Parts: sequence; C-alpha cells; structure tokens
Amino acid sequence: MSRFLSKKLSSLEAYTPGEQPRDKKYIKLNTNEFPYPPAPDVVAAVNADEMRALRLYPDPTGAELKARLAEVYGVGSENVFISNGSDDILNFSFMAFCENGAAYADITYGFYPVFAELYGINSKIIPLKSDLTLDVDEFCRTDSTCVIANPNAPTGLAISLEDVERIVSANENRVVVVDEAYVDFGGESAVSLTKKYKNLLVCQTYSKSRGMAGARLGFAIGDAALIADLELIKYSTNPYNLDRLTLAAGVAALSDGSRLYYAEKQSELMATRERTTAALTAIGAEVIPSLANFIFVKIPSIDGAELNAKLRERGILVRHFKTERIKDYNRISIGTPEEMATLVCEIEKIIGERK
Ligand SMILES: *Cc1c(COP(=O)(O)O)cnc(C)c1O
Repeated sequence: MSRFLSKKLSSLEAYTPGEQPRDKKYIKLNTNEFPYPPAPDVVAAVNADEMRALRLYPDPTGAELKARLAEVYGVGSENVFISNGSDDILNFSFMAFCENGAAYADITYGFYPVFAELYGINSKIIPLKSDLTLDVDEFCRTDSTCVIANPNAPTGLAISLEDVERIVSANENRVVVVDEAYVDFGGESAVSLTKKYKNLLVCQTYSKSRGMAGARLGFAIGDAALIADLELIKYSTNPYNLDRLTLAAGVAALSDGSRLYYAEKQSELMATRERTTAALTAIGAEVIPSLANFIFVKIPSIDGAELNAKLRERGILVRHFKTERIKDYNRISIGTPEEMATLVCEIEKIIGERK
C-alpha cells in the first residue's frame, strides 16, 4: 500500500476470487463455471469481421442486446440494464441504492460485504437460520436495502417466488436486489414481479449458465426508473464497459438455436447434480439439496480444509470458505459427468484412508 491511498480505503478487504490455476491441469470445480462451451452461434458470432470492427467503439447503449433480452424475458428494452458481469451491476446497485444501509445474509455471496465496505454503507447482517435457509421474516422487517442471492451461494438453497414477493412488498420504500446468478439451474425467477413492483431489481449473468464467464456479461431487469439510475452510474464511470465482441456474443447466445442448446446443457448439468448428490450421500457425505450449479458438501469424518487440500493433491479443485459457520463444508461446482465420477471416486478413497 502506498502512502497516497485514500485513508478510507486503507482497511478495505477486497473480494478473493476463486483460484484460476496455471501450474497444471486440474479438474476445476471451484468457481462455478459452466462445464460446456458456449453455444455454436456464440462461437460463430465472434468472428474476423467483428475483430476488424474493434477499431470502432462499441454501441454504448447496447441497443441490440437489450432488445433481444427484453424479447426473451418479456419486458421492455427500458427495463433492461447490461453491464460488465453482474458483479458490475451489484457494484452499481450498492453505489446507487444503499444510502439507508444494506441487508444481506451472513452466509451469502462474498462480494456484498466488500461493496458495502467500499462505499461506507452500513451492513445489516441477517443470519441464515440453523438449517442454512434464508430468514425471510427478518428481511421483511429490515429498514435497509435488501440484497438476496436466490438461489443462495454457497449453499445452493433457494426461496420461493412467494417469499421473494413477501420481501419485496414489505419493503416498498427500499430497493430489493435479487441476484439470480444461478436461477437457470432449477430456481424460480422473480423477473415477472418486476412489472408489479417498482422497487425490485433482478440481476442475472451469462457467466454461470451460458458458459461465458470469460466474456463478462451481466444484465438486470427492473422498473425503467431503476434502470435509468444504473445508466446514470454507467455513463458517469465507463459508458463503453461492454466491448463489441461481448455484445455480439451476448446477442448470439439468445438465438433460438442457442436457447435450445443451453436448455439442454442446463438439464444435463442438473441431472449430473442429482446423480452426484446421490452418490456422495451413499458414501456418507452430507449434501445440501441444491438448485444451483454447485453443491455444498460436508464429510462428517473429515475437516473441510483438509478435504479441500486432499482433493487438490489429487488434482481436483473445489472451494472452501474459512467462515466459522461453514468451515466444515466445501462448495463443489458441477462439472461433466466424467469429472463428477472422478470426484466421487476420490472422495470415497479419502474417506477410506480415514478408516
Ligand atoms: C458468480 C456470481 C456473481 C457474479 O457473476 P458475474 O456475472 O460473473 O460477475 C454474482 N452473484 C453471485 C451470487 C455469483 O455467484
């Protein structure tokens, strides 16, 4: 740290992204990436013509992509915001909507406390219940802006659309941000509620369910006035925060063919998730039933950090969090059926060595 850094930033603890190793080839189940490549239309869209056009600035309004998203999600273009990953949208939302503090769960996406700290926002931490489900009643009682990952990370547990609506209607004078990064793996989206409630912002991403984490593309759907607020911040920081290639890829990922492709691959992934859950349970693991592309797993006889290290020695990366309440768990992304079979086999060996 230099002596020039603003005082208010000197104690900021940054978010720690999951590891992207370069030392050797691992089975990589640590950052919830999609195990399949983007749809063929996406690959075709990022072509030499698009490369040559990089000379020109991209469309700062992203009009074509917004129009397509609006069509697919049954809203107007004015209800859609697009940005450089949904992290960007969460960042803007903390900047824009949290003067009255931010309420979020104790166990949830690790970026929320970082944004709160960055902007000096008061955090109201609402602990998950003992079964790690969201305390919906407490979110109905708060006087802060609510930020809810649904399904939640790293638990994979979701709340129902009725519960989302309860929270949104109980907080009509505050924004409720529903972070639906994992909604395409069996969750219920709250997008339909954005027509009824002016205080609801739903964020989604191409990173987890469309195999485009490397493209950095997220979007939000909400009342036109909320979207205008986000545009204000975007045009006050970086109007060109989506490059031409990403915009083209984003549109191509919404073609009829792409949508079929993704629906099929997402179903495949959910089937792999269910098989992996059953197989791990059969060898003595505790697995929280997940609606995301990862599972949260505890092996009663083995410490969470130790399981993480042992899997790593065997070439498999999964994610462990040191937070006291969840330190016995590892979050394991769902990979291909072959990768998951290897994972189960290695965990079985690790358990066997213990006995
Ligand atoms: C991965 C993740 C994000 C970030 O997604 P990007 O679009 O890649 O920035 C946001 N929220 C949650 C809960 C996530 O797990």
